Amino acid sequence: MVLEESMLCFDSNLAKSKPESIVKRDTSCPFCETESLTNVIDREGTIIWVENKYPTLQDTYQTIIIETDQCESELSEYDPSHLKQLFRFAFEKWLVMENSGEYKSVILYKNHGLLSGGTIRHPHMQIVGLKKLNYWRKVNTDTFDGEFIHSAGNVSLSVSNYPLVGFTEFNVKVNENFNLKDVDQMAVYIQNGTHFLLNHLKCNSYNLFFYRLNQLIFVKIMPRFVTSPLFLGYSIPQVSNNINEIVTKMKDIYFK
Ligand SMILES: [Zn+2]
Repeated sequence: MVLEESMLCFDSNLAKSKPESIVKRDTSCPFCETESLTNVIDREGTIIWVENKYPTLQDTYQTIIIETDQCESELSEYDPSHLKQLFRFAFEKWLVMENSGEYKSVILYKNHGLLSGGTIRHPHMQIVGLKKLNYWRKVNTDTFDGEFIHSAGNVSLSVSNYPLVGFTEFNVKVNENFNLKDVDQMAVYIQNGTHFLLNHLKCNSYNLFFYRLNQLIFVKIMPRFVTSPLFLGYSIPQVSNNINEIVTKMKDIYFK
């Protein structure tokens, strides 16, 4: 593998001017000031797809989906109609970029919370076209399997037996022959997973990662803690020994 094709180059000059509003709560929020947004690509109600004003990653096309006009809100709290509208919108835009043929691969992901790697508190997702890099090169699909929690239509929810990084990672799997109802179901499972992490585990941060592989779409709902040194130094993930308890609790809370 050519090394340049396995990493991204970070523009440190551009990063210096980038605003931060998770730690510095008095920073004015760039996603609330929708009047001054430049390069809006599309919008639907309060959901806005816009080019990233600080594209710090070279050889990429970085875009942002502003999820709502409620700065202090959170995905796990959205009402069902907004939740479904958001995921229909985000999914459509992700697939538009994937099908454009302009990128080697396109990633859709979300950061929430101090430990998630995000810089802006206002709820948003990111769609990034990677011009030289295939994101699936190092992703092992075993990580998307696990203990079954629930399924409906072409969509299922599980908790990883083989986490990518560690502990309670939820997976949503969508068959590529999905219809809009499946996208809605995916949105509900994602909300259940994020709600569980934030309210029933000692976790204040998470990421969502979306993948498209072998006719399937996978979503990883990843809790974030201070990253384990075993993972950083040796790529050794850790799995909790209470997976069965998690499954039972999830079923009791969300699927009774
Ligand atoms: Zn805001």
